[in-house]
Parts: sequence; structure tokens; C-alpha cells
Amino acid sequence: MATIDIRSVRKSYLTTEVIKGIDCSVRDGELLVMLGPSGCGKSTLLRMVAGLERISKGEIAIDGRVVNELEPKDRNIAMVFQNYALYPHMSVFENMAYGLRIKGMPKAEIQAAVERAAKILELSAYLDRKPRQLSGGQRQRVAMGRAIVRSPSVFLFDEPLSNLDAKLRTQMRIEIKKLQTALGITSLYVTHDQVEAMTLADRIMVMNSGVAEQIDTPMNVYAHPASIFVAGFIGSPAMNFVGGSVGADGVSVALESGAALRDLPRPVEAARGRPVTLGIRPEHLEIVPIERADLRLEAVLVETLGADTVVHGTLIDRDGTALAVAGEGGRTLAARVPGHVRVVEGEVLPLRIADGALHLFDRETGLRIAEG
Ligand code: ADP
Ligand code: MG
Repeated sequence: MATIDIRSVRKSYLTTEVIKGIDCSVRDGELLVMLGPSGCGKSTLLRMVAGLERISKGEIAIDGRVVNELEPKDRNIAMVFQNYALYPHMSVFENMAYGLRIKGMPKAEIQAAVERAAKILELSAYLDRKPRQLSGGQRQRVAMGRAIVRSPSVFLFDEPLSNLDAKLRTQMRIEIKKLQTALGITSLYVTHDQVEAMTLADRIMVMNSGVAEQIDTPMNVYAHPASIFVAGFIGSPAMNFVGGSVGADGVSVALESGAALRDLPRPVEAARGRPVTLGIRPEHLEIVPIERADLRLEAVLVETLGADTVVHGTLIDRDGTALAVAGEGGRTLAARVPGHVRVVEGEVLPLRIADGALHLFDRETGLRIAEG
């Protein structure tokens, strides 16, 4: 049982700063997922918690004790990596016992610890097997077992499921969640996979270029993204961004073309009379009769996924003016409609933005303009 406190932590390699001042407190028993694109600094931050990288500035405390100068072996942590590298010549039992033997734990205790972990992980029947006689999922569980037997106060995971195929990944994700909840061990989990983050996390830290853009529950990160970066990173297909402006009343919203959009449910003081970037999730665009429509979408590409259909198209305002879609390479906008709705390419769909589903971002800073 432990808490982790990351305080104003920075990391530089020579002159390049890769972690630019991160603050985060992980609660006892919590699973915090660090999510972000490749190269944003997730592993570096995790490795500083583990003691595998020096901290350039700031401090990290585990259970209230600053660990900056503490060796990894003295931090009472266990790590599970993407490349879990089991010893091929050792049995499952020996693989799990190895770390304990190095620590000089008495034989009977090792036996008990390994058997207990094997039982939790449903590996009891495989203790005599060699890694090559196991499936990918079982190997991953042995790697987990190696971490569990040490009864650490903190688990650190670095993309532990990336080497598994999609189906196994889903299965192992559920197992890790069950295990972490049952054991109640404070955990930091690194992934670039938003679905993994959403389903596993108590809270998510969304990282971008060495900065924590938002630390919040999965639902809040989805429903109230703190920045355009977070908004665009969470959710699939990604949120649509369109240029717009808010009227002096703080309620009326217009598209860049000047066409009026739906009013906001209540005034947004900070946005009065300002140019903004409007964010609309594909799932919040609904096909409606033309007289109720906010926008029209000319279908360019229709992706049939079964349960639902994603329509990519060019955006037209109510008066027929084609609109630019903000964001990288963003020429089309996406709408997610129920799978039973048949849409053909070239069709123009009248769309309505769901009530209260419009997100406002500052055009310059990219930060969310808070409601109310
Ligand atoms: P992530 O795990 O999010 O993909 P990393 O933490 O591995 O990202 O890397 C963050 C940044 O730090 C990257 O730009 C990477 O090139 C750089 N980096 C990582 N390790 C080193 C190192 N040992 N020396 C120099 N740069 C490094
Ligand atoms: Mg990494």
C-alpha cells in the first residue's frame, strides 16, 4: 500500500528537456494511466519513479518518502515491461522465484509466495513448464507473477500488452484490471492506446511533449477535455474541430461562414465575442429532418462497422457554404450514425448537434473555455 507524489518533475537529456514539470499525486490503491503519443515522455517519467533514470529537477515520493536518491531495489516497486523477457531455460516456477532467490528469501517462503501468485493468475498447472510451452497470454501472466511475488507497494507497467494480438490484449486488460483491483496495489500504467487507458484507469494523465495536459477520470477526460490536444486524442473517430465565434451575449454561436449554430445551454462568460474552435464529437451528430438541422454533411466516405456507421464528408452550413474543418489535414468531418441507417456516398445528411455537446476551445491557446 502506497501513494506516489510526483512534484514539479523535470528531465533533460543533455540540452533537451523531455519532461517539462509534471505534478501528480497517485492515491493509495489507485491505477493511474499515463497516456500519450509515442515520444511524449511516458516511459521516461515511469523510469524516474522506478529509479532507472535520474530526476533532473523536482522530487518523487513513494508513501511520503522522497526516493530521488534511492536505488530501484530499495523502492519496493515491481515493473512489468512490454518486453517481459522470461528466462527461456527456466521453468515458470523458477522464473517467478528468481527475484526472491536473489534477495535471499528462505526456500519455504519462496515456495509459498510463488504458489499464491500462481493461484491468483491461474498458473498452478503450468509451474513446471518452460516459457516456450506457454501461450502469449500465459507468458504475460508469468511476467505479472514475477511482479506479484515480491509483494511490492507499487506496480509500474510500461505498455505490458503491446506485444499481444488484439483479442488477447482485450482479455489480458480485463485480467490486469481484476488483479489490480483485488490486490489494491497502487499502480502506474503507461500506454499509447486510448481504449486501454479508458477501460483500465481510475484516472488518466494525458501527456503531450513532456507536459501533463489533463489528469482526470476517464469520463471527465472524454466529456470535459482540457485542451484541443486531449479532445483530439481521446475518442474514436476523433473529435471534429470547426472554426467559429461566440456572440457578445455569450450564448449564440456562429460558424466561420457566419451561419448561426445552436445556442449554448447557458452563457459562457470567458467566450463572449471571441473567435473559438468548436469541438463536436462524431457520436454527437444526429441525422434529423432538414428543418431541425444545424449543419449538412456531404458524404465522401462511408465506413460500415456493423453496430454503427462512420460517415466522413465535407461540411456545408445551412445556407450551402462549404466550411473548412480545423486541425491537421482536416478536410472532412466525421459523423457516427447507427448501423441500420443506410448512407451512400454523395448523399447530403442534415445533422443536428446533440444538446449540450458543443465544446469550446480558445483559438490561440487551444485550451478549453470552461462552461458557466
Ligand atoms: P514514450 O515512452 O512516451 O514513447 P520516452 O519517454 O521513451 O517516450 O521518450 C521521451 C523523449 O525522450 C523522446 O523524444 C526520446 O527520444 C527521448 N529520450 C528517451 N531516452 C533518451 C536517452 N537515453 N537519451 C536521449 N533522449 C532520450
Ligand atoms: Mg515508452
